[in-house]
This record gives sequence, structure tokens and C-alpha cells, in this order.
Amino acid sequence: MKEKYRVLLYYHYVHIEDPKTYAAEHLQYCKDLGIKGRILVAHEGINGTLSGTIEQTDTYMEHMKQDPRFKDMVFKMDLHDGHAFKKMHVRHRPELVTLRLEDDINPLELTGNYLKPKEFYEAMQDENTIVIDARNDYEYDLGHFRGAVRPDIRTFRELPGWIKENKEILEGKKILAYCTGGIRCEKFTGWLKREGYEDVNQLQGGIVTYGYDPEVQGALWDGKCYVFDERISVPINRKEHVIVGVDYFDGTPCERYVNCANPECNKQILCSEENEHKYMRGCTHECRVHPRNLYIKEHNLSEEEVDRRLKAIEEEDRLKRKAM
Ligand SMILES: [Zn+2]
Repeated sequence: MKEKYRVLLYYHYVHIEDPKTYAAEHLQYCKDLGIKGRILVAHEGINGTLSGTIEQTDTYMEHMKQDPRFKDMVFKMDLHDGHAFKKMHVRHRPELVTLRLEDDINPLELTGNYLKPKEFYEAMQDENTIVIDARNDYEYDLGHFRGAVRPDIRTFRELPGWIKENKEILEGKKILAYCTGGIRCEKFTGWLKREGYEDVNQLQGGIVTYGYDPEVQGALWDGKCYVFDERISVPINRKEHVIVGVDYFDGTPCERYVNCANPECNKQILCSEENEHKYMRGCTHECRVHPRNLYIKEHNLSEEEVDRRLKAIEEEDRLKRKAM
């Protein structure tokens, strides 16, 4: 693999006076530089992930650090064999992470204690600790810290509601929260403190930083880490690899995410290549026979072939039910 490209991940909470103008100017800068990715700009700061050559990303980081607002920004870096994005977007948003609290949290004023990877690793093994995954269910399903709680949520803004409904699990515990790069926990742990929890902690730099830490080397992480670019996932635990993902169709170990071929569903499911063909990448019968099924289009399947596969699925379901 030729690793001449880099993927950057970063965020910084800092006041930006005119995010709309900044976003437009920054987009032009990024396009001129030739990098690709997705950057969000808000009054509360900046959050980005992008890819480019080593030279381009070096130039980008230098450029950002010359801006006094971003001089302390921490960049997480990964090597890759090409771009991890197709386009360059810089968007102006009301929030960096969508939480939509009635009374917003400013992490510069209120947030949980920062734990370095080694501290987080040690605290995780304390009996009185509860580890909460602050990400979405499909991210958890591909990989997570061993023993972490999996909130049953599809989007980040559902997290406060879920905590309120499950508050007994946090009672009297040391709370550890983590997310991919750390940005979601900044607000989430601030919110927990405002809710009255006292011992609230967050993994500094997120899972990605934890994986690169020379001492812990990703220990106690099982599976892979979901990322929001074309790579889909990255390895974290450098000591051992335990697969926790399971195939949506047959429950066997699996770490391969695909989107349901029905564009109106688009649900992400873990599924082997074999099952992708067998089920025409449809998460349900309705998605398989949907007139816009992309799998059928991509593979140019004839009506007879679609029928044949549907019958095979039906037959297998019948056998499964009989066996139960
Ligand atoms: Zn579907």
C-alpha cells in the first residue's frame, strides 16, 4: 500500500464571529489547496475531517495554526493510500454536533474531566466505573470498549433523553464517556455535569488518539472504530483483534458495513460479500423488491434472476423456521 496520503481529524471550540463568511473563505482555501473532506463551522468553533497528500495536509495544518483562534488545535493523523473523500465541503451550522438542547452547553465553560489514554485505561478497570459510549448504535456495533454501555440511539441528539430514561445505571458511579475524536463528549459530559453528576470524565482525543497511544496501544478496545469517510472503519487495538460485529443476516462474525440497496432506506448493515449477493443488499423483503434497488441495477439482474434469489431466501426462511 502506498501511503502518501493523510487523513486529518480535528475540532476546536472557540468563538467564531462570522461563521458564514469564514466557511465561504475557508472552502475556497481548501479547494485551491486541493484537499477533500467535510468541515463544519459554527459560532462555537470548527470541526473537520479531510484528506490530502502529506504536503497538502502539512500546509493546511500550518495555515490553521497561524490563525490565533486555532493555534492550539490538535490534529489527529492517519496514513492512507488515497483520498478518503470525494468532494470538499465547508458548511456553516448552528452547532458543531447536533444536540439541540434548549439551553446549550459551552464546553469552554462546562465539561467533564479530561483523561489521557493511560488514565482512561486504568479508570475503566475500576469496579465502580461505568463506561458510556457516546456514539450511535451502528458505531458501537462495529467496535467499542469492552463492557461499555450501548445507548439505544440512532443519532447523538437522542442521547440526553436516553440517559434520563436510564439514570439508575449511573447512580453513584464514576462516569467515563468516549467518542471517535472527542468532540461529542465535550458537550455530553458538560451536560451530565449540569444534570448533577459529579464524577464525570471524558477520553481526551477520543478513540482514535487512544489507539495511537504508545503505552496502551488500544488495549480493551474490541472490534474496529467506525469513521465518517470512505474508509468506513479503522483499527484501534494494536495488541489483539477481537471481532464483535455480527452479520445482519446470519449472525456470524463480520466487520463489513454496507448500505441497504434501497436508497429510501439506506440503513447501514454489517454483511458478508456472500450475503450481500444472496439478499441483493436489501435489509428487508420490501427493500429487496423496491423499484429503485441499487444492487439490482448495479448487477443488471434480470427479473428471472431476482425471482430466483427471492425464492431461495424464502426457502431458507422456511427451513430455519422448521428447525426452530
Ligand atoms: Zn432497507
